[in-house]
Formats: sequence, C-alpha cells, structure tokens
Amino acid sequence: MPDGGTGIRPPVRVVVVGAGFSGLAAASVLAGAGAQVAVLEARDRVGGRVLTRRLADGTALDLGAQWIGPTQDRMAALVAEHALTTFPSASVGAATVLWDGRRRDAPPDSAHRLVALLDADAAEVDPAAPWRAARAAEWDRTTLGGWLAEVAADPVSARYVGRLLAGGLLAADPAEVSLLQLLFYLRSGGGSGLLLAMAGGAQQDRIVGGPAALAERMAAALPPGSVVTGTPVRAIGHDDAGVVAYTDGGLHRADAAVVALAPALAGRIGYDPPLPALRDGLTQRMPMGAALKVHAVYPEPFWRADGLSGVSTAAEGPVTETVDNGVPGSSRGVLTAFAYGGEARELRRMSPQRRRAALVDALVAIVGPAAARPDEVVEYDWSADEWTRGCFCGALTPGSWAGYGPELRRPTGRVHWAGTETATRWAGYLEGAVLAGERAAAEVLAAHA
Ligand SMILES: Cc1cc2nc3c(=O)[nH]c(=O)nc-3n(C[C@H](O)[C@H](O)[C@H](O)COP(=O)(O)OP(=O)(O)OC[C@H]3O[C@@H](n4cnc5c(N)ncnc54)[C@H](O)[C@@H]3O)c2cc1C
Repeated sequence: MPDGGTGIRPPVRVVVVGAGFSGLAAASVLAGAGAQVAVLEARDRVGGRVLTRRLADGTALDLGAQWIGPTQDRMAALVAEHALTTFPSASVGAATVLWDGRRRDAPPDSAHRLVALLDADAAEVDPAAPWRAARAAEWDRTTLGGWLAEVAADPVSARYVGRLLAGGLLAADPAEVSLLQLLFYLRSGGGSGLLLAMAGGAQQDRIVGGPAALAERMAAALPPGSVVTGTPVRAIGHDDAGVVAYTDGGLHRADAAVVALAPALAGRIGYDPPLPALRDGLTQRMPMGAALKVHAVYPEPFWRADGLSGVSTAAEGPVTETVDNGVPGSSRGVLTAFAYGGEARELRRMSPQRRRAALVDALVAIVGPAAARPDEVVEYDWSADEWTRGCFCGALTPGSWAGYGPELRRPTGRVHWAGTETATRWAGYLEGAVLAGERAAAEVLAAHA
C-alpha cells in the first residue's frame, strides 16, 4: 500500500458483506487490528439467521438460532465479553419417541447402532479436507438414505435415523445428503453425542435476550458508523489494486472484501470479473436446507405436570423434533416443533390454517390433547426470506466435495470467504460462523495489511 513517502501506512480498508455472526466476528477482529471496516448488511437489522420476537406479554421466541453448548468456546467468550448471560434449556421429565405408531421414551438399540457406525466413520474425516479421506469418493456418491436402506436392521430405524441426522442436522431429506457431507458435519461438531444432546450438547444453553441481543452488542462495539444496514451488495468489482462493492446507494472502495454469506447467497451477487468457474460451481452446489421451526404457545407448560419434557423425536409424521422452549420469567408454555426437508416443504404448500392444524395434531400426538388449543402459533419462513433462502445452513450436494470442497475457503484474489458454511469446527452453527469470520479476518490481515 503506498504511504506517500511518510513511512506511515494507512489502515487497510475492508468491506465486509453481511452482518450475521460471521461478518460481525470478522469486522471485530479487523477493527481490533486497526483496519477501517465497512460492514454492509442487506436487512435493516444485524444478526442474519437469528431473530427474536417478543409476544405481547414479553415472552421471547427465538425464530432462528437459539442454542449454544459445550466446546462452542468462541460463542461462550463473546457472551461473557458482551456482558450477557445464558440459561439452561428446559428439560424436566421424560423424552418421547414416536416409533412405528407407538410411544417410547428412547429409541431402540438399532438406531443407536447406526449412529455409532456413522460416528466411527466420521472419525476418519478431516473437516478441513473431507475429500482426502480414504473412502471419500465412495462416501460422497452414497446418500445417507441409500446407506440406511442397505445397513439398517429395519425400515423404521432407517427412517428415524435419516430424519434425525439428515433432518435434525442439515434440514434435508436422507436422499439429498451424501454420507461424506454428513460425516464432515458430525466430525465438525464433535460427534453425534455433542450434536444431538440437550444437556451436555449443542442444545444445552440459551442466551438471555436471544442471540440477537449478542449480535446487536457485537455491532455496537464496532467503531461508530462501521455497520450500514439496509444496504444489499449487488456486485463486487475486484482486481490487483482493490475491491469495489456496489450497492443501491453508491459504491464502497476497499483493499479487500470479506463475503460473510452462505455460498448460495454469495452466488447471487455479481462479480467483475466473474468468479472462477470452480468457485461459482460451488455456489451452485451448496443449497440451503429446508427447516420449519414453529412455536406453539400455551398458557402454561402443561406437559411438565404429566412428567413429559416436551422433548421428542419422531420416526413418522410432519414433525421430526420438539422441545420445551419456555423462557425464565414467563409462565407461558412454549413447545417448538421442527419439520425438515420433504415434510417442511409439504407443510409450506398448505394454507396457514391447514398447516397450523397439521402441526397442532402432531403436537397432540406427542404431549396429549391439551396441545390442541395453543394461544398462538408463531412461525417464520427462512426459506422465503430473500436474505437467507433456507436453513439451518448450506450443504454440498452428493458427489460435489472432491470437485468443489477445496473452493470453500480459497480466496478469489482480494475477495475472502466467510460464513458458517466455511467453518471446519461447528460448521452450520453460530460458533462456526464466528470461527469462519475470525479466520477470514486473519487471512485479510496477513495478505493485505
Ligand atoms: C431456524 C434456525 C435455527 C437455528 N438453530 C441454531 C442453533 O440453535 N444454534 C446454532 O448455533 N445455530 C443455529 N442455526 C444456524 C445459525 O443461525 C447459523 O449458523 C448462523 O447464524 C450463520 O451465520 P452467518 O453469519 O454465517 O450467516 P447469516 O446469519 O446468514 O448472515 C449473513 C448476513 O448477510 C446478509 N446478506 C445476505 N445477502 C447480502 C447481500 N447481498 N448484501 C449484504 N448483506 C447480505 C444477511 O441479511 C445476513 O444478515 C439456526 C438457523 C436457523 C435459521
């Protein structure tokens, strides 16, 4: 960078695209290192895939991400740094498993055995380069659905494990997910034990005020004026001298850009010159998942009196998982239901009234007839949201890892890539978003500061 003969180098200027956790984490590292940062955010709010809605009585509902857990150390540190606190997820009483038309309190060993086989294979995957695993090619051409059909002891076990893993982790159908993608995800999140558990796992704790409160504090801690909301980046020009981010309101010149978006969203921006074929190909092969997260709000958590935790998993029906999502300080009962992949799509095709009836029927099957009369049912459709287009995250389509995986983090000249999808630990999670943002920021400082 020229210094006009003074010997004083001006600060590196960086445009960060997206004020989700990844963009905010990147901006915070860059600003901390003395860089001049402009975070350009399409929405009129920060936080991205987190959104907290308050009911009239103050009960807070997290419509997007909500949990953090053990080994998500950067998230824990940020919560502490920004003077927020957490509370444990409600988990009092017995879990319910709907299994072949019957209720159980745990899945049978046949399901555990399948998950254990996958965990063992995941141990062979390097999350920084899954395509290098000895059996990568075989795993990437095999879908989870195909593998389960071969290996599972019975169709119900296959269906249950498929819904729990392809659905619960990637919000997709087992036929849409390659084994390699799933094994990468299992490894990146520390194995099924951590990924699936409430206490002791990724669903252990919630942030008071919701993760949105943390995003707002992270943004507020940046130098004043750093975050510009309501400003979609439409195109990025880039060459050896710098980058230009084009928005509806004008352009922002910088020395480098961090694009902190899911690849599917990053691919909707124009680039000049166009992205290299392999990077663009990646953006075409990493669709967002399809999850529907719906909160049914009751006067009280009536299921607790029946000895039920409200936590359920199901081998059949439109809803794959539920949790008790009550918050401290509110007496309301909140049952949150998750539907994934084909079931989520089917629910979306229904009228709001039919969808509500189908969801409430599913809740009745889990916690009994009192579930039939919720005060409110609150949903948010992330797939219809222009700036997210699906959730929880993007996942590479079967057969794509070897050809396109290496492009996930490879910078395109002065354009660097962040977003939770690029993380090697806790990919798909808030923790992964933060780690990815911090990694991209370090990359920019090393290359351009
Ligand atoms: C329903 C749901 C439940 C989830 N549950 C959990 C959970 O409990 N725990 C957990 O850890 N994770 C969970 N996740 C995943 C978690 O939300 C994500 O991993 C994380 O928020 C991703 O952060 P990010 O910064 O990578 O991307 P994003 O949050 O998507 O941020 C990208 C930002 O870029 C903006 N943007 C997009 N296009 C443009 C553009 N062209 N110009 C400018 N800005 C743009 C978007 O508006 C957005 O603010 C959940 C997600 C959802 C939706």
